[in-house]
Amino acid sequence: MRAVPTLEHAAPRARLGALPPLAPLAAGALVAALDLLFPALCPVCRTPLGPGRRDPLCGPCWGGIARIEPPWCEACGLPLSAPRPVPVVAAPAPPAGGGAGDGGAPERVSFRAEGVPPSPSASVLCGACEARPPAYDWGRAAARYEGPLREALHALKFGGRRALARPLADLLVEQCGAALPADAVVVPVPLGRDRERARGFNQAALIAGRAAKRLGLGLERRWLARVRATSPQSELAAAERSANVRGAFRASPEVRGRHVLLVDDVMTTGATLAECARAVAAAGAARVGVLAVARVL
Ligand SMILES: [Zn+2]
Ligand SMILES: [Zn+2]
Repeated sequence: MRAVPTLEHAAPRARLGALPPLAPLAAGALVAALDLLFPALCPVCRTPLGPGRRDPLCGPCWGGIARIEPPWCEACGLPLSAPRPVPVVAAPAPPAGGGAGDGGAPERVSFRAEGVPPSPSASVLCGACEARPPAYDWGRAAARYEGPLREALHALKFGGRRALARPLADLLVEQCGAALPADAVVVPVPLGRDRERARGFNQAALIAGRAAKRLGLGLERRWLARVRATSPQSELAAAERSANVRGAFRASPEVRGRHVLLVDDVMTTGATLAECARAVAAAGAARVGVLAVARVL
């Protein structure tokens, strides 16, 4: 599949001139030399990987991912266009004039605590979570499901480009990994057995494995299982998705008392992650957080 472009089209490499003689060639330099002859192509845009690359993604595709930035809903991670003033009232009111606020500006909660799982007293919620708390204790997604990230997830799932799990897990860790509890356990959303067999892998498990390693957290693939086959969520309307996955998962009793981090590649309506969270909570988990690489917005 990989084209072999002529040498003059190879990606420029500043370090090339510094390559040591063959004998002490480090693995990295060897890869660089091979890349020069057979440039690795970005699976999204098919250009040779250049500066800023996050193998196998090229720099522009990596940089073009629409990361979700705060403020976001403290419960589900939905990006909020502007801080909502209402929650400030819900927080314990400081004595008159005693706050850190300056002038007449209302005090707002800080939006700097990126990635910090919200406490139960979290006060900034999206409309949906205000109306009905989600099935999990907190949720975050790294980026919007669009552009190069959408293409990368397709290439991973349907094109078998497993190497993409690495930058996608890195994206998850870099956007959502700050201050995760050290005793949390990472559990990937399971695929149906037939689907995993057909695909050869579970993309959520690949991403979760890499993310857990980078975070120094435990990974437990078997703590959550599908107990019945479901239709692919992508083929269903939003309203049908909850019913499709209801009761489809069962968690191991080992989740009891643990802070479980459920990891999936894409959150669309959140129905799958919510159902997984219900199963984990029903089995006695102390807290359930959900992490998705991408969220459909
Ligand atoms: Zn690219
Ligand atoms: Zn929300």
